[in-house]
Amino acid sequence: MDRSPVRRASEAFEGERSTLGAIRVRSGRGAGSHLLEVPGAFVFIGLDPNSSFLAGSGVRLDERGFVVTGGGLIRDGRRPAALAPRDPGPWETSVPGVFAVGDLRSGSTKQVASAAGEGASAALSIREHLADAERRAQIRSIAPPAGARTRAARPIDVAV
Ligand SMILES: Cc1cc2nc3c(=O)[nH]c(=O)nc-3n(C[C@H](O)[C@H](O)[C@H](O)COP(=O)(O)OP(=O)(O)OC[C@H]3O[C@@H](n4cnc5c(N)ncnc54)[C@H](O)[C@@H]3O)c2cc1C
Repeated sequence: MDRSPVRRASEAFEGERSTLGAIRVRSGRGAGSHLLEVPGAFVFIGLDPNSSFLAGSGVRLDERGFVVTGGGLIRDGRRPAALAPRDPGPWETSVPGVFAVGDLRSGSTKQVASAAGEGASAALSIREHLADAERRAQIRSIAPPAGARTRAARPIDVAV
């Protein structure tokens, strides 16, 4: 039996009485086809990301429509403007506060265990993001309006 793990050029399944006997495989450019006798086959049906709803959102997609995250967002040493000057986190997209994990993510392993692990890790990143947003909002709420004169003789220390 041919043990080649993946055949991308299969043309037809052949057999008798609902039993697979062989696969007709393209032999090469213009070289016709040949029969490969096999007792069974797994069909890889492909994978198309359902990411069209992100059009116009600013979330960067790769050429196949998968969501780009983390280090994949850094091009020629440049980070996405909305995230600079810091590096994006591993599940972070080009839009702050939007995270992507699992099969939809560009470069993911397309395995269920990784999808679940990335999801758990992203939940922690989201918690950090929300805590950070809350800290920033608190700082803004106690900062004097631009140009206002304060009566403090020295800068006020703020613990964050
Ligand atoms: C036939 C098959 C066999 C597989 N076998 C294995 C295996 O043996 N081992 C393995 O590790 N992995 C296997 N996988 C891969 C595994 O299933 C995936 O890696 C995993 O399910 C990815 O999880 P996910 O949460 O990222 O995506 P999904 O499980 O695809 O979940 C995405 C969910 O989002 C929903 N959704 C999509 N678009 C929207 C939208 N616009 N709004 C709201 N909801 C939306 C979908 O309906 C779906 O419920 C297999 C996959 C297939 C198809």
